[in-house]
Amino acid sequence: MPELPEVETIKRELEKAIINKKIVDVIVNNPKVIREPKKDKFIKALKNVKIKKIIRKGKLLIIELSSGKFLTIHLKMTGQLIYPSTTLGTSPQKATRVSFKFSDGKILDFNDTRLFGELRIVDHWQNLKFIEELGPEPFEIDAKKFSAMLKNRKTKIKVLIMDQKFISGIGNLYANEALFRAKIDPRKPADSLSDKEKELLFKKIKSVLQQAIKYGGSSVVDYVRVSGKKGIYAKFHQVYDREGEKCYKCKGKVKRIVLGGRGTYFCSVCQK
Ligand SMILES: [Zn+2]
Repeated sequence: MPELPEVETIKRELEKAIINKKIVDVIVNNPKVIREPKKDKFIKALKNVKIKKIIRKGKLLIIELSSGKFLTIHLKMTGQLIYPSTTLGTSPQKATRVSFKFSDGKILDFNDTRLFGELRIVDHWQNLKFIEELGPEPFEIDAKKFSAMLKNRKTKIKVLIMDQKFISGIGNLYANEALFRAKIDPRKPADSLSDKEKELLFKKIKSVLQQAIKYGGSSVVDYVRVSGKKGIYAKFHQVYDREGEKCYKCKGKVKRIVLGGRGTYFCSVCQK
């Protein structure tokens, strides 16, 4: 699933690609991805409006339209945005569900093989329930605030930092990577971390996210950049998806356990 670095990459690429462009047509191949309003109203709300601004909040992309409304796009598991697509409705990557055609003839495709993606037209994106519930992003707080947030939290540290209501933008992949870099065992109760560990973890969360953005994110399953190219941060992964392989830092093997229902990769020698 695309996490903060992948969605931020798409946001930056869309900014370069479609700002100020006018949508002249919308082709819907599968209306299941349109959550609100109904298909006909959705199309009508997009025709002949310009793209004013692109915003990202958590994993949500928000496109501000010249009509004052917002088109929100949640990629979920397998969503992709591809631009420019060459043939309307038949992007070469994966099943195209919705295509947006601009006045210059160029096309933006929304592809989604598993149909979990969500497109909406709303008056106020801030009022969407899952947005209201989001915790702060790592870049919106400092180490002191992060440490204070961990106080009295008995939840296992990895499960807690993946809780979007606690802190938003860290999914499974980057939680594993940040904990390895901070040398912290993912099973530790959050409030058992020392002050030094809390500070180091916060630093590593930010650096791993920043580095991942720099390399266009991690293309591990379906995620690709707007150009259709892969994000290459996966080559810097230390533990994610490396069960049984040698730890790059010691002679131990990377282990996999399940925490909070998610595959958790760590080195029990390096992470205490
Ligand atoms: Zn190790």
